[in-house]
Amino acid sequence: MSNIISINELSYSYQKGKQVLNNLSLQVPRGAIYGFLGANGAGKTTTIRSILGLIKPSKGNIQLFNQAIKISNPEILKNVGSLIESPAIYSHLTGYQNLKLVCKYLNIPYAKITEVLHLVNLRTQKDKKTKAYSTGMKQRLGLAMALLNDPELLILDEPTSGLDPTGIIEIRNIIKNLQNEGKTIFLSSHLLNEIELIATSVGIIKDGKMVFQGSIQELELLKKKNLQVNLKVDHPQKVIDLLKTQFIANLNDTDTIKVDVQDENDIPIIIETLVRNKINIYEVRLEKNNLENLFIDITNSDQ
Ligand code: ATP
Repeated sequence: MSNIISINELSYSYQKGKQVLNNLSLQVPRGAIYGFLGANGAGKTTTIRSILGLIKPSKGNIQLFNQAIKISNPEILKNVGSLIESPAIYSHLTGYQNLKLVCKYLNIPYAKITEVLHLVNLRTQKDKKTKAYSTGMKQRLGLAMALLNDPELLILDEPTSGLDPTGIIEIRNIIKNLQNEGKTIFLSSHLLNEIELIATSVGIIKDGKMVFQGSIQELELLKKKNLQVNLKVDHPQKVIDLLKTQFIANLNDTDTIKVDVQDENDIPIIIETLVRNKINIYEVRLEKNNLENLFIDITNSDQ
């Protein structure tokens, strides 16, 4: 599969001695919803600014649609729509009038407005002044503005930030529909569960470095590993001795035993061992490593 964005060993610092991006590489496959995850200050917005040619990296290179982005080559960015932070919206104008202004500026026929209003589900609200819009509606209008020139790639910096659950679902559905229309979407977020629900590819950034990149399936696979089984039994110490040749088992403060397992297939092996040794089992509880834990693990490890 070809990559729409390809970043190679990118470095950037706003101030001398404080590296914000540190040899960052990433690849966004064509047609993907790429979730770019990172804690506050990890370097997501700086990466996005670099992709959009708004800042010039000190090292590395960025390719969009297989072409290097350079100040001398702004044409490539015509095929990119972006939404960074709050969209620039005139509050005394209606949604429609705001879109008209962008059309004028970019020389796009007004007929396109109806199409984008449909895409972001704002048709019925188009004649309302935007000062009466909710945060979610403003965000959708910003998205509509970014879509006016029918870009192949959409770059969205924390598009659900500050939205209520309904607003988040709406944006999520719009993004999925846009992907179905053939667009590639690069989406930054610190909302892990959100990314898990929507992304097809994921990149996790920590201190300006990529610490995980892969498909959502690869991330799920990682999640399935490193599970923990909690056991309540009648002879905890005996159980630890029985299991220790195959597993790492420890006593919890609460008298339960924690057993680290590779995957779910280890559970019947544990139970069978205990039954064979006439241990009474009162409880077997599997603790899945959710994305939140995984994210903390990944970002805390020194990879
Ligand atoms: P957030 O989710 O908080 O926006 P982020 O992952 O988008 O975080 P960036 O905004 O890229 O992170 O910031 C990365 C680092 O660069 C932070 O330490 C931030 O303080 C610093 N930084 C960002 N913009 C500037 C700037 N204009 N001048 C100096 N330092 C900056």
